[in-house]
Amino acid sequence: MTAVAYGTQAAPGAQGPARTVDLRSDTVTRPTPAMREAMRAAPLGDDVFGDDPTVNALQERIAGLLGFEAALFMPSGTQSNLCALLAHCGRGDEYLVGQMAHCYRYEGGGGAVFGSLQPQPLPTQPDGTLALADIAAAIKPDDPHFARTRLLCLENTWNGHVLPAAYVAQATELARSRGLVTHLDGARLFNAAVASGVPARELTRHFDSVSVCFSKGLGAPIGSALCGSRELIARARRVRKMAGGGMRQVGLLAAAADHALTHHVDRLADDHALARRLAEGLTGLPGLRVTPPHTNLVFAAVEGGRCAALLAHLASRGVLATGLIGLRFVTHLDVDAEGIDIAIAAVREFLAA
Ligand SMILES: *Cc1c(COP(=O)(O)O)cnc(C)c1O
Repeated sequence: MTAVAYGTQAAPGAQGPARTVDLRSDTVTRPTPAMREAMRAAPLGDDVFGDDPTVNALQERIAGLLGFEAALFMPSGTQSNLCALLAHCGRGDEYLVGQMAHCYRYEGGGGAVFGSLQPQPLPTQPDGTLALADIAAAIKPDDPHFARTRLLCLENTWNGHVLPAAYVAQATELARSRGLVTHLDGARLFNAAVASGVPARELTRHFDSVSVCFSKGLGAPIGSALCGSRELIARARRVRKMAGGGMRQVGLLAAAADHALTHHVDRLADDHALARRLAEGLTGLPGLRVTPPHTNLVFAAVEGGRCAALLAHLASRGVLATGLIGLRFVTHLDVDAEGIDIAIAAVREFLAA
C-alpha cells in the first residue's frame, strides 16, 4: 500500500517555473468565473435561523439526489463525518472503520476527542474494502466488558478506488443484520458514480448517512453535505452548532456547491481520462510501479528510496505532487492534458538521469 501524505507542501513562490502543474490534490482548484457569478447572485439569509434560501435549496437538492430525507451543509468533510459519528453514536459506543480510512486516520481522532467514541479500526484491504469476516468478528456481544458496537463506516472512493457494488450491499447487509447503522464517507462519491456510470444514489442507497464534499473534484471553494433521515440530520445540526459550524449568510458558499452539482459532475470523466493519460505515460518506466487508476488519483511506488528526491525534482519543474514512499498525483478541474504531459516529462527526466 502506498502511504499518503496530505497536502502539506506549499506551492512555490514567484521565482518558480513559468507554469505550475498542481497535482497535490483536487482541493487546490479556484472557483471558475461562472461559479463566482453564481455566488454573487445568490439570495442570502441567516442560516442559523434556517433563513438562507440558497442553503435550503442546496440541502434539498443533495438530499434528493442521494435518496435521503434531509441534508445539512457543512464547512468541511471532516466536520460532516464528525457530525455523522456523533449523531449516530453516544458516549462509549464504538464504530468500525478502516485502518486507512479518512474518518479514522486523518481527522484528528475527533470521534474520540469530542464524542467519547471508541474507534475499532479494521485492516483496509488494497481495494478499500474491509473484509466481511473482519467486520463480523469485530462486532461485540452485549456484555459489560465491551463497548457497544454501533456503526460501520465505509469510504467510496477510497484512495481513488471505487468500492465494488456487490461488496457494499453485502457489508451493509451484514451490519444491518447485526443491529448496526452505516455511514458512507463519500468525499469523492461523484467520482465513483461517474466512473461506474451509475447515478450517485445507486451508491448511497444502502447507507443510513452519507457525507459528500463539494470542495474536492467538484471544484467548490468550501463545503460538504451530510445526508440522512430527518431525525439524524436534526441531531447532526446540534453537533454542528457545538462544533462551531453554524454559519450565517452561507448561501454564498452553497451557491458555489449548487453550481458545481450542475456543471462539474459529468466533467469528472475528464479528470479520470487525464489520470489514465498520466498513468499510461508513467507505466513501464524503470524504478516506478504505477497502480492503474479507477478515478482521479494516480499512485506510483518509487523504488530505491528516491521518492523525496523525485518530488523535489518535480517541484523544480513546477510539478507538485505528494507522497512518502510513493507518489500521489490528483487530477482536477485546473489541470489539462498539457499539464499532464509536463508532469510525465519531468518524471522521465528524473528517472533517465
Ligand atoms: C478530504 C476528505 C475528507 C475530509 O474533507 P475536508 O473537507 O478536507 O475536511 C473526508 N474523507 C475523505 C475520503 C476525504 O478525501
